Amino acid sequence: MPIGKLLIANRGEIAVRINRAARDLGIPTVQVHSAADREMLAVKLAGESVEIGPPLAAKSYLNIDRIIEAGRSTGADAVHPGYGFLAENAAFAEAVADAGMTFVGPDAATIRTMGDKALARRQAELAGVATVPGSDGVVGDISEAGKLASEIGFPVMIKAAAGGGGRGIRVARSGDEFPTLASQASTEALAAFGDGGIYIEKVIENARHVEVQILGDGTDSIHCWERECSIQRRRQKLWEEAPSTAIDEATRDRLCRSAVDLAVSVGYSGAGTVEYLFDDSSNSFYFIEMNTRIQVEHPVTEMVTGLDLVAEMIRIAGGSSLRHRQDDVRRNGHAIEVRLNAEDPLNGFMPCPGTVTDIASAGGLGVRFDHMLYRDYVVPPFYDSLLGKLIVHGETREAALTRLARSLEETRIEGVATTLPLFQLLLNDCDIRSNAVHTGWLEDWLGAQSNEVRKQGDTIA
Ligand code: ADP
Ligand code: ADP
Ligand code: MG
Repeated sequence: MPIGKLLIANRGEIAVRINRAARDLGIPTVQVHSAADREMLAVKLAGESVEIGPPLAAKSYLNIDRIIEAGRSTGADAVHPGYGFLAENAAFAEAVADAGMTFVGPDAATIRTMGDKALARRQAELAGVATVPGSDGVVGDISEAGKLASEIGFPVMIKAAAGGGGRGIRVARSGDEFPTLASQASTEALAAFGDGGIYIEKVIENARHVEVQILGDGTDSIHCWERECSIQRRRQKLWEEAPSTAIDEATRDRLCRSAVDLAVSVGYSGAGTVEYLFDDSSNSFYFIEMNTRIQVEHPVTEMVTGLDLVAEMIRIAGGSSLRHRQDDVRRNGHAIEVRLNAEDPLNGFMPCPGTVTDIASAGGLGVRFDHMLYRDYVVPPFYDSLLGKLIVHGETREAALTRLARSLEETRIEGVATTLPLFQLLLNDCDIRSNAVHTGWLEDWLGAQSNEVRKQGDTIA
């Protein structure tokens, strides 16, 4: 049944994004919020709002009972979880369904299989998709895991099965350090995700992060091409593009088809992303995980395909089948997104919550600024530091880079430090200009920059 009223169980820029998609479909919205978020933009834009608890996410945005109650009291018949928080929580999807509402996303069983990263690896293998060499599922005994790690060959990556957002990952470079790092990873995963299960993977050195956007309706799945997200710090993406200029058409075809095969193998419903590492030297890609939700960087796909992915996921949740055939999903030009976080890149990326004293937005053809800001808005210190995303589109990558430079110049956010100046520096780098990068590239670059500053400091002293 088409959705009559949508509850948005998230905050920040993605809550604004979901509200816009719902309104564009003529669907009224209910925005839930914590006590710290009474003044957030998404509350002002929504038809109704309900306070669901104190600032601490565990008591508000992660409080399933309060969110379900907010849906009941306002007569919402569907819930969009956004990303982060409860977006990949199978118990939440189940609670929403038990309360007679529609969860905008796949069903709880799919979230359980694909949201557990160790189980998802197995599913990928069943669907014939290559995975990074590693353990067969979660590792139980640490000394057994150590033996397996030696067989795979160091360095290995120790990952939390329930992990996400770059957390719960350790790299072990030798058998000596493996046991300590493995138990650290497990303890951290238990504290962060309530699940201490870990698995191991071979480290693919100098790889790129390439991922495929999927839409499924429970029967059929299509892909909406790939994104490249190799510019990362602490395994979190900061800059994303579509398409990836690193892969040729034949590889693109194989990659996107493999993601569709995986989605079809689980009867996927909704929007999802299949993430891979791509090794330039062997032209091979390896599945790493699937995210069963909308992703932060979805706008670059929207810019090159013209689709509204959030609207499509709402339509699918309302019972609609896929409205596009694979051949109808065309690519046009090149899009780049940069993440504006409330962090000071000139000061070790220190978080910088505070009051936005002024804001000027970039605009014009091919520019999109998805954000949560307005003048005098106070950025609270309790949550993820993402304030917004600047997305540009051009006929070619070169045109998109030029437009990005122009748009960064037009954008001003005053009162809080942001990652904006970092992107201005990156734009002049020749590796960035030629896309000669990998997932460790930015950290190497940042290291080189701080060495340079230190050297200059020595000369001055
Ligand atoms: P994306 O590719 O969309 O950026 P990320 O994995 O970086 O995906 O996660 C997006 C957001 O969701 C980030 O704010 C991240 O901190 C959060 N997140 C992702 N997975 C989890 C999880 N399992 N638990 C808590 N937060 C998560
Ligand atoms: P999360 O769930 O936190 O997003 P992922 O499994 O997607 O974790 O990995 C996050 C990032 O860590 C990747 O984008 C990549 O940069 C790096 N990474 C993950 N697995 C490997 C690997 N086997 N070898 C090298 N780098 C990896
Ligand atoms: Mg990931």
